[in-house]
Amino acid sequence: MTSCHRCGRSRSSVSDLELLAWSSERTGKSVRWLCHVCAKTHVRDIEGKLPDEYWR
Ligand SMILES: [Zn+2]
Repeated sequence: MTSCHRCGRSRSSVSDLELLAWSSERTGKSVRWLCHVCAKTHVRDIEGKLPDEYWR
């Protein structure tokens, strides 16, 4: 099951409209997702390219 990389919200728990606002990022072999809430709140952090450790 795919879920938000940051808060753990599952993709199946949101509406189709909200799902459109999710963003994905390829990291090597895997893809990590940010939900519509996290993507909006932390867009500046993402743009700042913080190290992966920040997200754990
Ligand atoms: Zn989230």
